Parts: sequence; C-alpha cells; structure tokens
Amino acid sequence: MSQEKNFHMSPEEFRNHGHAVIDWLADYYKNVEAYPVFSSVKPGEIRDSLPPNPPQNGESFDAMLGDVEKLILPGITHWQSPNFYAYFPCNASGASILGDLLSSGLGVQGMLWATSPACTELETHVLDWLASMLDLPDKFLSKRSGGGVIQDTASSASLCALLAARERATRFVTNRTGCDGKLIAYTSSQAHSSIEKNVRIAGIGRDNLRLIEVDEHFAMNAGALAAQIQQDKSAGRVPFFVCATVGTTSSNAIDPLARIGPICREHNLWLHVDAAMSGTAALCPEFRHIHNGIEFADSYCFNPHKWMFTNFDCDCLYVADRKTLIQTLSVLPEYLRNQASESGAVFDYRDWQIPLGRRFRSLKLWFVIRHYGIAGLQYHIRQHVELARQFAQWITEDKRFELAAPVPLNLVCFRLKAGDDANQMLMDRLNTSGDLYLTHTRLNDRMTLRFCIGQTNTEARHVKRAWKRIQEEADQLSSSKSA
Ligand code: PLP
Repeated sequence: MSQEKNFHMSPEEFRNHGHAVIDWLADYYKNVEAYPVFSSVKPGEIRDSLPPNPPQNGESFDAMLGDVEKLILPGITHWQSPNFYAYFPCNASGASILGDLLSSGLGVQGMLWATSPACTELETHVLDWLASMLDLPDKFLSKRSGGGVIQDTASSASLCALLAARERATRFVTNRTGCDGKLIAYTSSQAHSSIEKNVRIAGIGRDNLRLIEVDEHFAMNAGALAAQIQQDKSAGRVPFFVCATVGTTSSNAIDPLARIGPICREHNLWLHVDAAMSGTAALCPEFRHIHNGIEFADSYCFNPHKWMFTNFDCDCLYVADRKTLIQTLSVLPEYLRNQASESGAVFDYRDWQIPLGRRFRSLKLWFVIRHYGIAGLQYHIRQHVELARQFAQWITEDKRFELAAPVPLNLVCFRLKAGDDANQMLMDRLNTSGDLYLTHTRLNDRMTLRFCIGQTNTEARHVKRAWKRIQEEADQLSSSKSA
C-alpha cells in the first residue's frame, strides 16, 4: 500500500535531527561559560531579526537549528551558566532534560489516572519519595490522609492551597455563592508577590490580606500575627489562612513555623508553607531546622525547578488532607467519567490543580533523583551552602562592603557601604560585563545586592572569580570617584 502524502518528520529524520539537537545542547553546556550571562539586546532587536511572515513551505531542520544559534542565542540570558547568581536559580541538568524529552516524546496528557496510569502513579510515588527525602511529616504521604502533586509553579501551588483553605473555612459555601468579603488571609511583608496575586484571584480581596511585620532578620513576627488575628476577630472578620515562607525571595528569611503553627491551630487557620527555593536544603539533615514546626502545616510547597536540578516547570505541593483539596477543585462533566475514577481507587490529578490537562512531569524528577541519588543531591546542596558562607566571609573581610541579612543557606545579601547609587553602578557594571549576573532588592529601604549560589554547575572557581570581579569593579568605582 502506498504511503499517503504527508509533511511529517519521518522517524529516521527525527532520529537524525534529535541527535543533532542533543549534540548542540551538549556543546552549549560545554561552552556556556563563554557567553555573556546577561543578554544585552535592546527591546525589539530579536523580533527585528526574524522574518516578518511565516514560511509558506516547510524549511530544513538545519536552517531552524542554525537560526537558534544565530537569531535566538543573542537574546538568551544564560540561566544555565554557572556564573548566574540572579533572582533564585532555575535549574536544569542532563538527567532532567532527558526525562523531560521523554515526557515530550510520549506526549501523555495525564489529567485522569485512566488517561495514562503510569503518569499518575509515578508522580504519586516520586512525591512520596521526596516527602521522605525532605523528612516531611507522614500526613503528607499518599498512604495517609494527604499526598503530593506536581504543579507548574509555587504560585499555582499556593493558589490551590488558598482555595482549599477558603472552602474549608466556609464549608464549601464559597464555591457555590462566592466570597462575602469577610475572610482574612495573612502573610509577612516579605512574602512572595504571588501570595497577593493569589488573594486577588481567589476573590478574597487585596484589602483582606494582612502583611505582618517582620523581625530584624526579615522573618515573620509571630506576636504581631497573633495580635492581628485577634483584632480581625474582634472586628467580626473571619481569619482563615496564613502563608509562612521558608526562604523569602528578598533575603532568604525563614519564618518561625514552630511559633506560627500553634497560633494557626488555636484559631483553626490553614497554614501553608511556601519553601519555593529553600525547601530543597532539607535534603540534608543539618539544614532541616528550616522546617522546625512543619508538623503544623496543612500544605507545603517547594520547587525542584529552582534548586534541585530539575527543569522548569516543577513545583511539588503537599497537602495533609487531600479530600478538602479535591472537593474544592473537582467538577465532573460526563465526558470525563470513567470506571477507574468511580471505583475511588485512583487519584485523578486534574482535581488537585487549576488546569485540566497536565504533562508527565514526574519523569524528569524521577530521573534526577535516580541519577544523583540522595547522596549526590546532598553533595551539591552542601557545596552551594558552603560556597555562600565563604562568599559571605569575603564580604565581611572587605571594609567597603557589609552583609545586609543573615545567610542561612545559599543567598548572600550584601552592599557597598557607599550608598544606593554606588550599589546600582556596581551591579550595572558587573551585569553589562557579561561575566556574571546578579540582581537586587531593597532591605531596610536600602539597595541590596543578592548573590544566590544555586545554579547546577556553579563551583568554587566560579564564585572566586565572581568575587574577584566584584572587587575589581568596586576598585574602579572608588578610583573614578576619587579622580
Ligand atoms: N515563593 C517564593 C518564596 C519565591 O521565591 C518564588 C520565586 O522566586 C515564588 C514563590 C514564585 O515561584 P514560581 O515562579 O514557581 O511561581
């Protein structure tokens, strides 16, 4: 029988082009340090280099890959460069990339257990593994009342937690009739902006989010939280949700869960813990103190896509009581009904998240855990923390600089004592040099530089060189000032 005409890539073409892509990526990783970390293209420059119209006829794969190198690379900020210290990291690794490639290749949409049992069961299993790797309480395990689910981001995970909390507090009435404006949520003034965004999305209302003051280390002041809850209750409002942060974005502050937890219990508030980057540190027993008090949490999330060598997107959300989450998010149309779901013996992860559809994300996580093993993951996390401590030591030894916050893990917040303008200039000069990339925040209303050591391939030599470059630019700044 003759083959009908088609325009698809044949399996043999796919094999050849696939090899070429892997070769290209292997070379990219080999040479990634040669690229300026921070892309300096001007707005519109990349679009101007692209053809105005799409091609009428298909093009060769070589042309496409060639254009990635020629047209796209100049507009890439190299998050996978070991000289990337900006924001929080967004890790990739060989094992993860290949797991993700398999996920793309299998093309599974795992909304229901029935739409690919392995997609659901591997996820449940790997998330149980991870819970025990982080030494999370048993209640978060799928064998108990809870369980874990992979979300795209911490933002979505916290939104799911917030919605479940809203429904628990209102006995699922809000899902039917909408918010009545009385519910009050709490987080610290240092919490991630996603919490405010989620409060808006969930219909709680921005005015009903209390940003609790922080202590001198930028961690939530538990006394202030308790006082605010009392005040809101006295005013006839309904406190229902607290989001504590383990590792704030600005300064990596660790909110005191062991003090916040009992307050939540006393007032029956849902405690969500956002450990987006720093949760990964709990892979190492010596850093597990960051989770002291986690037994009080109703939900917990962290992002392997930040610091656990797993490609974006991959956030792990754990809930202690999955029934509440599922009842909050489940809507069952006829076309999704199936025997397995009705048997009650399976998880349908569509009911644990906002979208219906979902990728096979646990493959990359499974590959990462199996490739590195617990020991390999611990080795790299310890190395990053050790490098951050070394870097912080150098800061304290140079009289021109000061630390702006404690360094509990892998983020160093520091500044030149010379003031905001000098720090802005230092950061701009470093970033435009292409040698490294770091970003800033404001702490105590002062410009503060953030140096986060968490990129997969960052080693001692990179951090040493970064510090040398920072010192050189600081020298230049002071000599141009005195000239
Ligand atoms: N929470 C914290 C503490 C973060 O640091 C971040 C991002 O840096 C987020 C939430 C948001 O992460 P995502 O991009 O996964 O939504």
